[in-house]
Amino acid sequence: ELLELRSIEKFAATGRIARTMAHEVRNPLTNIGLASEQLRGEIDGNNEEIALLMGMIDRNVSRINQLITDLLNSTKFVQLQYTKVNVNNLVDDTLMLAKDRIDLKNIKLEKSYDPNLCDIKVDPEKMKIALLNIIVNAVEAMESSSGVLNIKTEKDGDKCLIRITDNGSGMDEETVSKLFEPYFTRKPNGTGLGLTSTQNIILNHNGKIAVMSAPGTGTSFTITLEA
Ligand code: ADP
Ligand code: MG
Repeated sequence: ELLELRSIEKFAATGRIARTMAHEVRNPLTNIGLASEQLRGEIDGNNEEIALLMGMIDRNVSRINQLITDLLNSTKFVQLQYTKVNVNNLVDDTLMLAKDRIDLKNIKLEKSYDPNLCDIKVDPEKMKIALLNIIVNAVEAMESSSGVLNIKTEKDGDKCLIRITDNGSGMDEETVSKLFEPYFTRKPNGTGLGLTSTQNIILNHNGKIAVMSAPGTGTSFTITLEA
């Protein structure tokens, strides 16, 4: 019992640390980003070396920002602000956020939306993050130009289903079993917090997330939410 209490305390502490970090780190980080933007206007556009360094600053600023977002969303206590949204619109809004990456890799997008999908009550900002993490992984797992990203929505009784399928590398059983663990990654620059956040957000919505994958064939994530 004592042990259990300790782990609850640890969870609460993790949440507190993450929130403090988010606040204390994001403000100075924003200043770095703004300063870099201003410097960019000052420097000679022909200086390649400096442009390269500025690019490095910007990439690292957004990387730290992303890390903070992931960290916040992967601690158990996510604060949700519920609003009624249409599932198909929610998916489209998320796709907008991923558009650059999808276009950059020349990924083919297939949408099969159920027109009868009604509104569901979710925290749209959190849910977009949850879906985006899956979509980003899918894009990263696929080859340029031959990649196909399929997104399906379906109304199933009083439930709404969102299925995201890729024809990328797929995963072996061991990888699938570790998928949602914090810090589990097979990428050189991965954080391993993306799917931890996704699962956490879905579970906080009382939803379900399931995965099917086969090496060399692709991966499919299915999210089920109460309508
Ligand atoms: P990260 O993307 O930072 O590695 P994630 O939690 O998003 O962390 O994903 C964990 C790992 O799961 C990835 O490193 C990858 O090995 C595997 N993975 C997730 N989604 C897919 C996918 N669609 N296809 C193949 N592997 C995947
Ligand atoms: Mg990821």
